[in-house]
Order: sequence, then structure tokens, then C-alpha cells
Amino acid sequence: MTQPNGQSTAVAVSPDSGEHWSAPGAWRVAEGVYRIPLPLPMDGLKAVNVYAIEGEDGYTLIDGGWAITEGRAALEQGLKQLDAGFGDIKRFYVTHIHRDHYTLASVLGGEVGAQVALGEGERASLDMIHHRTGDNTIARSLAQAGATAIAEQWSSSGQSDDPTFWRLPDVWLEGDVRVPAGERTLDAVHTPGHTRGHYVFADADAGLLFAGDHVLPTITPSIGFESSMAVSPLGDFMASLTKVRGLPDRTLLPAHGPVSPSTHARVDQLLAHHEERLDLCVAALRGGEATSVDIAGQLPWTRHEHAFSTLDFFNQGLAAMETKAHLELLVARGQVSREERDGIVHFELLPA
Ligand SMILES: [Zn+2]
Repeated sequence: MTQPNGQSTAVAVSPDSGEHWSAPGAWRVAEGVYRIPLPLPMDGLKAVNVYAIEGEDGYTLIDGGWAITEGRAALEQGLKQLDAGFGDIKRFYVTHIHRDHYTLASVLGGEVGAQVALGEGERASLDMIHHRTGDNTIARSLAQAGATAIAEQWSSSGQSDDPTFWRLPDVWLEGDVRVPAGERTLDAVHTPGHTRGHYVFADADAGLLFAGDHVLPTITPSIGFESSMAVSPLGDFMASLTKVRGLPDRTLLPAHGPVSPSTHARVDQLLAHHEERLDLCVAALRGGEATSVDIAGQLPWTRHEHAFSTLDFFNQGLAAMETKAHLELLVARGQVSREERDGIVHFELLPA
């Protein structure tokens, strides 16, 4: 469309790349829907998938990617393979506020006038980013989790981002709504948990679910890693998984990882995984009163079951917050008591 030389590059027609899912390109996943992975250097996730939905008025993008040079170049290349450019982007539906999803949508939205939509639940976190209080809040949550050393590193690691990364969206999504994507209509479904304002987008006619980080095929999404924290992020997340389980089974189009055949199958695995982790937390609490980081130290981490002490500082932070989310859910379920002393939350198993 915008390519000056009029040359068109052939688009791969395989259902997916046939290579590692992070291989660059615009991979056709369904009629008029393309997966464009953008690299995330220095990040264990390897890449973030942006999905481009073709329409007569241009492209609707699900997620924008991280506004780093390599990410921007990969998106430009991917669109070029579709004979399109940034000027053909009509709108972004961003699944959540995390920088690997929101920032490039914010930047390009400002540059080309594409509409940016984001869940209303992210407003508090975006405010905190604007007031530069987000990192402090995360540091305070880490301190509550008993991860004092990690909290100190966190407060001193705050980097100043370009303000164009964090523009306000043009549209705040509220509740479950139907939104246009060219000639299609998508169901925007609020799925809090990974973050408070997370959304998934369903194309019911095509049998597709753009799942963001709510349902990932090979890893479990982090829980409650956000500037403005929900009371029970894991409780929210599991309720949102149950909500998505109640929708028809669809092809899973995740933000990280390969396209997978069944949203139901993966949701069932994720729910079972968290019940297992909750059981492990209960077992660890049999040793007596403990903080989140004490318990995190006794649990295996990642698919490869690494010890907490072998994780890097960022992942130790995620692990501490994740453990806290599990312990808070056990409190909500009436199995565990909590007491905050000197800014640190202590958990104790209640008699059954
Ligand atoms: Zn992500």
C-alpha cells in the first residue's frame, strides 16, 4: 500500500513460520491475520507477537510491541511484507500496560494518528508512571514480600522513559465491549490478573482469541507485576481464566510463544498449575510463619525448576511478587492468616 517501489514480497502461507516462533516476518495465521514477532533483546521472553488484522481501511494491530529500535524495525519489516507501512495502521488494541506491549503503540499512535485503545483498569498504573511513582510502589510491594534487598535495588534501578512511550490512550476500554477491526467486530473481554486492565480480543467468526499475556502457551504469565496493585491479583487471574474457559474453544494467539490450537486446553493447564503452586505454598507454610520471599525460596521456579537463589534480580522480584499473590489468595480462601509488621507481611497456616 505505501511501498514506493510498488514491489510486493510474497507472504508466507504456512499456518506459522515453521521455524522458532520468534523468527522475524509476517506469518499468516488465518485469513487476513498476520503474526509479526518483534525481538525483545536481553529478555527471557525472546519476542512479543504483534497481530495485524487486514481491513479495507488499513490495519488493526493487537498490541504494539516495545518501543526499542529493533522492535520498531521488525514491525516495519513485517508490515512491508504485507505491502504496508506505519501509515496504514488505523488502530491499536493493546492488551495491557506492560512496556513490551504498550510503548510502541503509544509512539506510533502519536506519529501516524492511529487510535490507541487500552483497558480502563490500567489508568492507575499509567498515572503512577506519569508521576514517576510506579517503581517506588513496586519496591514497596517487594519490601512487603520480605524481599528487602531486591526492593532496594529496584528503587535505584528506575530508568527515565521517553514521555511518548506513555501517552494516554485515545480510548479507554470499559467492561466487555464489541470493537471494530476493519470489516470485523471483535469481542473485547476484560481479563484482569496479569494486570488490572488486561483485555483479550476474540474474533468469534474466525475462531481466534488474541490472548495477550492472559493465556500463554508455554510459560505461565507473571501475576501482579504492576505499579498499581490489585488486592488479589491471582484471584482475579484465575477468575479471568475461568471466564475465558466459558467462551467457545478457539485458536490461541498469544503475545509470547507460538500459535496453539486450543484456548480451553491451555486454560485447564494454567488453572491446574496454580492449584499445584497453592498446594506447594501450603506445604511450605507447615514449617511455620513465613514471608513471601521465605516461601519463594522453597519453591521451584521456571519450567526447569530452578532454585530461587539462581534467578537474576529481576526474576527474583517477579518470583517474590508471584509467591505473595499465591499467599494472598490462600488468605482470601481462609486457609492462611496474614499479619503486617514493620512493612513486611507474615503468613501463617490456619488450622484446617
Ligand atoms: Zn508481555
